[in-house]
Amino acid sequence: MTTQTVCLNGEFLPLEEARVPVLDRGFIFGDGIYEVVPSYGGRLFRWPQHLARLKRSLAAIRIANPHDDDAWTALVNRLIGLHPWPDQFVYLQVTRGVARRDHAFPAQATPTVFAMASELAPVPAAQREGGIAAVSLPDERWLHCDIKSVSLLGNVLARQAAVDAGAAECLMFRDGFLTEGSSSNVWVVRNGTVFGPPRDHRILEGIRAGLLDELCARGGIPMQTRPVLREEVLAADELMVSSATKEVVAVTRLDGRPVGSGRPGPVYHALYQAYQAAKQAGG
Ligand code: PMP
Repeated sequence: MTTQTVCLNGEFLPLEEARVPVLDRGFIFGDGIYEVVPSYGGRLFRWPQHLARLKRSLAAIRIANPHDDDAWTALVNRLIGLHPWPDQFVYLQVTRGVARRDHAFPAQATPTVFAMASELAPVPAAQREGGIAAVSLPDERWLHCDIKSVSLLGNVLARQAAVDAGAAECLMFRDGFLTEGSSSNVWVVRNGTVFGPPRDHRILEGIRAGLLDELCARGGIPMQTRPVLREEVLAADELMVSSATKEVVAVTRLDGRPVGSGRPGPVYHALYQAYQAAKQAGG
């Protein structure tokens, strides 16, 4: 087992030794944001996009950015360099810091900055080859899902509902329209076109959303961003989810029924291949 070295407020130390005070507002209120960025063969993947989203999340909850771009980049690369795994993902978290418990922002608090690199294991072969099962659920989360907040109770309960139903992910619906998964964006294929919901306050705009836009454009696959009805999801030829750790994975069962042919389809295969080529090319 490799010892994991993490970075807490500028100090590099073993994971087991990292401690945060109980009055940290991340612990007390979930008052913080996070980011997850993959790295392949020691090279960060889509780092400028991840860094830009980190800064948008900080600004959205009014935490002053504790580092400039160069300092963030140096921190993340140093962490990756400390570990032997070829493929890693870096988890970054910034909370509003430690203060006496009061909902309003403290007058004085220094943000808590935590960073951790972990081994990025490939998606299991069975899921690559056969796809995953998902369940549909009402989206019961708040209306700022565009902020990558550590307040993830709605996502946690949704994922557990999927696991309880023997599925790997959920597809959530608000007012009859598709939003996203508990930790992924969702893509619907009908008649060769890829559809994804509008990237507004109801979903987190995945870094893979921008990547899939590019891969579809390059591969001549039509892609449309527009509200997607539940009925369209249920009648899909193919369904896919995307995230930093899953890349893109086919959803082949929804609520116990096969999706389309019940096997990962041609659009999934084309996008998966294109994704691997983008990794090879470094972005
Ligand atoms: N939506 C949610 C709720 C997520 O947690 C994630 C994973 N971070 C995504 C979408 C996909 O985002 P990304 O492609 O940046 O991993």
